[in-house]
Amino acid sequence: MVVADLGNILGTYDVVLREGFKNAGGDRIEVFRAGVSGSRPLCLDDPSYIALVSDRKLDVALQQFNLNDAESIAAFIVEKTNMTLSNRSTETLKDSFNRQIDYLRISITDSCNLKCIYCMPEKGLKRFDQSDILTTDEIIGIVRIAAKYGVKKVRLTGGEPLLRKDIIPLISGIKSMGIRDLSITTNGQRLAEMAQQLKRAGLDRVNISLDTLIADRYRKITRGGEIDRVWEGVRESERAGLSPVKINMVPVRGINDDEVSRFAALTMYKDIHVRFIEFMPIGNRETWKPDAYLGKDEIMARAASTGKLVLLPFKGGGPSRNYRIEGAPGMIGFISAISDCFCGSCNRLRLTAVGKFRPCLFSEITVDIKTPLRNGAADEELEALYRDAVLSKPARHALQERALFAPSLSPMSQIGG
Ligand code: SAM
Ligand code: SF4
Repeated sequence: MVVADLGNILGTYDVVLREGFKNAGGDRIEVFRAGVSGSRPLCLDDPSYIALVSDRKLDVALQQFNLNDAESIAAFIVEKTNMTLSNRSTETLKDSFNRQIDYLRISITDSCNLKCIYCMPEKGLKRFDQSDILTTDEIIGIVRIAAKYGVKKVRLTGGEPLLRKDIIPLISGIKSMGIRDLSITTNGQRLAEMAQQLKRAGLDRVNISLDTLIADRYRKITRGGEIDRVWEGVRESERAGLSPVKINMVPVRGINDDEVSRFAALTMYKDIHVRFIEFMPIGNRETWKPDAYLGKDEIMARAASTGKLVLLPFKGGGPSRNYRIEGAPGMIGFISAISDCFCGSCNRLRLTAVGKFRPCLFSEITVDIKTPLRNGAADEELEALYRDAVLSKPARHALQERALFAPSLSPMSQIGG
């Protein structure tokens, strides 16, 4: 707990640790340099980290500084280690509509082990040429630029991000760029066996897509997925501390809309976040119909049949409007891109698996960074492309209008949902 707080505070500096301070056995605090992998064994002789030895117990040592005060912690580190800390003074880049862009969502693959009916056609999609997919180093390099302009949150998605073989070094590399909140969206099929190593590599949180609680229905919706694996993934994520675990559910009329209240009820027994995501006219033309769409009011009314929904304070930035059933440990979120457009507080930029910034999920405008990167462009040129992408974010999407028609946008699995 304290460790996490310190990690966040120190994340405001360029030279910082991967996991904040670590309590290394009672009376010693260790500070890691940025970039050192968490899975590396600790060794006092290793010059890549510095040990701060205190003769007091950790909690007593921490009382020396005000935990809310990054300046005093930084001063303490400098005094004890002669380490140079440069305050990350760069302000978070704002777009043309004065929105601070501090969240990068990266699709790391267009490959998937499922074919959810609302996301992909039965015959699958034509895959990108593998040589076009960004490499680990390229992704980390782009995150470094984004971090310089104030990005603090990164989410990895796809396709199915856990299919990527280099997912572990990718996560530790991204985390070491000073990213405070690193999360992943996954279908959960491979999560159980990976949760612990993902956490060790630096992953903070996980969102798991689950659209039904019924095993047969799950197999049909996902065209072959195993629901037991998802629940094992949830449990293993909780054990690993990838919390809060969030469940993403897309209600589609006639498919799973009868389960909204059962999903809401999950939050009454567990500290789990269930997020209802409005079905969007993106991707599979076979499933999208205006009639299949449920708006926020209808989803909320169904969720409220489980218990009174109490609105929680808006944290800013994210698209989710959060509630809690009175007395429940878990939370319920509504992400309603069509009926409750959240564009005014949009804080994100997307990067596709083939290296194109996508300023808005619902617009086909893209800014290619991969080609210049592979042609050896200088940092200044790449940074200018990042700024262009942020500045080309539209004021809002036109989804209400588009929703009346057939979908025409690229599939979610290729953009990164
Ligand atoms: N494969 C991973 C997964 O399913 O979690 C990550 C990629 S998937 C494209 C990311 C999210 O997009 C999932 O939660 C999925 O439910 C959502 N999604 C896909 N198509 C959608 C659509 N047409 N409308 C709303 N959400 C959609
Ligand atoms: Fe794959 Fe995720 Fe799309 Fe399902 S929603 S087909 S798991 S990318």
